[in-house]
Amino acid sequence: MKILQQLQGWQGKRPALAHLLATLFADLLSPEYFPSVSTLKYWHLQGIIDNNESRRLTEREALQACATMFLKRAGDKLPAIRNRVASHSLKQLRTLAGQLIDEILQEQQIGSSRVASHAQGVMSSLAHGIVQLYHRVVLSGKIVRQRHEDLPHELLNALSRLGRLHIEAGQEDQAASVHEVLARCRQPLHAWGLPIFTDSHFPFRDCVLIDPDLYVPTIDCLEIAQKHGGSTADILEHESFERLREIAQATEGQANRVYTLMREFIGRFSLTTYDDILVYMQQHMLPNEALLFLVNDVYMEVPEAWLIDGKALRCGHCRTLLRPDPRQPQMPYCPMRACRDLTPSTTIGAQLDARKARVVKPHLLSYWVNPAIDELRIYDAANAAGIPAALYPDMDRCDISLKDIKSNQEIDFDVKAHRDPIMLGKRLNVSVSTSENQSKLIIVIPDGVAKLRSQYIALVKDELIDKDAMEIMLVSTAMHLIKRLAHA
Ligand SMILES: [Zn+2]
Repeated sequence: MKILQQLQGWQGKRPALAHLLATLFADLLSPEYFPSVSTLKYWHLQGIIDNNESRRLTEREALQACATMFLKRAGDKLPAIRNRVASHSLKQLRTLAGQLIDEILQEQQIGSSRVASHAQGVMSSLAHGIVQLYHRVVLSGKIVRQRHEDLPHELLNALSRLGRLHIEAGQEDQAASVHEVLARCRQPLHAWGLPIFTDSHFPFRDCVLIDPDLYVPTIDCLEIAQKHGGSTADILEHESFERLREIAQATEGQANRVYTLMREFIGRFSLTTYDDILVYMQQHMLPNEALLFLVNDVYMEVPEAWLIDGKALRCGHCRTLLRPDPRQPQMPYCPMRACRDLTPSTTIGAQLDARKARVVKPHLLSYWVNPAIDELRIYDAANAAGIPAALYPDMDRCDISLKDIKSNQEIDFDVKAHRDPIMLGKRLNVSVSTSENQSKLIIVIPDGVAKLRSQYIALVKDELIDKDAMEIMLVSTAMHLIKRLAHA
């Protein structure tokens, strides 16, 4: 045992031993268990520690003191301790001290994993409550009031359990106000001030539950809610996805084309007008159901709070609706994180008539449009380089598929923007099955997302059960790869 190696060959007086024990075992014991100089002297008088005043203490006495300290903590009385410690050989003392330290380590692991699994349960219930709340707000248009009858049962349950976590950590209950908890949900868990959330092994430590720009449950939040038994029925993204597939499948022999055209339009024109939607539909001869889907399920009128000087302003980079900056309402900013990561300065593109403007609903801005910014960059780069490419092929088999002409190999790219790398790794284990098709799969992480946690890609790979099933790289690396393929 490493910690005990530090006692080998040790020599010194009582004050030095008292200091050494307190330093070596600071993580294992609370301060009251460490012997003072006079306690060490008392243990000697009781016949537990061998030494007398005339000579220096050695490793043997240090091990006796160490074992005594742990046995006292376990509740043993001094006469019983003397029987276990006094007449032992050096080898026996080393074994005994090693066993006692092991026992404490195990105890601590069980204790902390119990807290961790309890905390995971609390978070999954909170994530589920947030999804339900968002669903209710979107469907009813009601604003959150802290009246119990207005809040989902799951959310109330989560608030009280979260309050208990604070109290168990020796803190005040900081979960009494739903508004305060929801505000905290826009920060990563490790910034919440609860010790268990800062543990580097806590699986959700980097998760943010509510998108700080769009105020919708994040992908991480959906994952936590789903993984821990939450139903998928109330997850709106899922509904939209299924609806679009149905519409595409209903067209004879054109399902893939219709699906791709719809997703591409939503990704490229998340702020548009009713007239432009009509023109696109007619140009590509899309079915009437597709038009109804866009008008009712995907787009909405622009709320007045998002206008600037009465106008709907389009982002000059990603073409979405610019919002008034909450800190300086006259200043527009782009609510798409992926766009801001690429181009930090705001550029105003077109100005649309507020009455005619239509903007994609917030949850689809978050789950479809924000990732589409990087998906379309990869797709456009491949097209520009003359590489055969397909966007959302086979109704979303992947985001982009390319053909490497030289090796005749298909390469599928999937953009993943989970903020938490561990969560993403776990997700990939269940979502990817290599047997399905012969193409090579590359998971691409937006550079701005990977920057949020050091070793992001290594952490994802650590979680993967089948490490050969896919490659993981940054979007910037994927762009270089496309250039290389073009020149090959
Ligand atoms: Zn933008």
